[in-house]
Amino acid sequence: MKKKLSLPIQILLALVLGVIVGLVCYKTGNASFTANYLKPFGTIFVNLLKFVVVPVVLLSMIDGILSMNDMKRVGTIGWKTMAYFFCTTAIACIIGLSCAILFDNLGLFPTLAAEEGAVWENATSANFMDTLVGMFPSNMWTSFSTANMLQVIIIAIMFGGAIMASGEKGRLCREFVSSANAVINQLMSFIIKLSPIGVFTMMSWVVATQGTEILGSLAIVLCCAYIGYIIHAVFVYSITAKTMAGISPIEFFKKASPAMIFAFTSASSVATLPVSKECAENMGADKDITSFVLPLGATVNMDGTAIYQCVATVFLATCAGVHLGLGELVTIVLTATLASIGTAGVSGAGTIMLAMVLTSIGVDVNLIMIIYGIDRLFDMGRTCLNITGDMACSVCISKLERKKTQNKTLINNK
Ligand code: ASP
Repeated sequence: MKKKLSLPIQILLALVLGVIVGLVCYKTGNASFTANYLKPFGTIFVNLLKFVVVPVVLLSMIDGILSMNDMKRVGTIGWKTMAYFFCTTAIACIIGLSCAILFDNLGLFPTLAAEEGAVWENATSANFMDTLVGMFPSNMWTSFSTANMLQVIIIAIMFGGAIMASGEKGRLCREFVSSANAVINQLMSFIIKLSPIGVFTMMSWVVATQGTEILGSLAIVLCCAYIGYIIHAVFVYSITAKTMAGISPIEFFKKASPAMIFAFTSASSVATLPVSKECAENMGADKDITSFVLPLGATVNMDGTAIYQCVATVFLATCAGVHLGLGELVTIVLTATLASIGTAGVSGAGTIMLAMVLTSIGVDVNLIMIIYGIDRLFDMGRTCLNITGDMACSVCISKLERKKTQNKTLINNK
């Protein structure tokens, strides 16, 4: 019986093949072949990503808000967990953005010539107040049809809140959102299955039109993201695990390593759940806390994804020669935080949400083609960081809860 190649292997082969074909076309002066006959398939793939991004953001955010309502039932653990997730993700965005800006200022990110077939448009620079006013929609359908991501997020927050406030009468809407969200996630995984075609066609077109230097630039941006991942893991998780849970960084990473390795190879937080649960409990996290924190974290807590989105956005904006002002930087932190919350814990999902971050600052989504070929390499690292953050959170919350119960018993015994 024929054995089907796994998706990661297919993507790797597509990447290698794409580079080879691109190099051959570049050396033989046949770049137009890739632009005319290969890139259109890449465009179809990017169109599918663009097509799915609005419903994914809308439904996953409303569903996420509705699940927070359930969190009221789990009481303070829910809010402490969300606070931990939110703060660490915001820090991740700042780290990612700082690394990217540093690399950019050192001149390590290239500005690409819009070679034949390259169709990206420049962003229209907006200041902070314009961005703020522009976040509020006056017509919902226009927000959807123009894929105005900040407006889509506001719409999701408003509907999520309204459904929650409607109580029993809103039950039908609630069920509809959760079922539609499951369907759109399925659709997203169908699109992700087409990745090898996208990777091959994009890689060959990018290499054929931009030459070999682009490979160096891709290695640099990959390195920048990994520096961000490492800084975040070493500082944020070590410090929180030490100060909040009393676990030394060495012990934390040693016990977390099986899940980290699994996440690195599978590139899916959800698939890593059983392993991360075992590792977190090994570190002393309570079972009832890991059963709540880890599945929630695998869905909403994605620090690695946030770092990747910040780095990729700055890199792609530089490639297109777009200058990012303070307004855009604030927008990137805001949307990358929200985008990482809305990212599904499966491989490749972070790139779909990258489209949202790019759109929010007016950078052409077609630019994703430049880095999509090596997305799997980004994904492995970001998933590894994503689940490490979930494990760190579960040990910290366990410790905090234990302290609370101890204090209560002490008071009762007095
Ligand atoms: N693969 C990541 C995860 O499962 C999500 C992403 O693509 O960023 O955590």
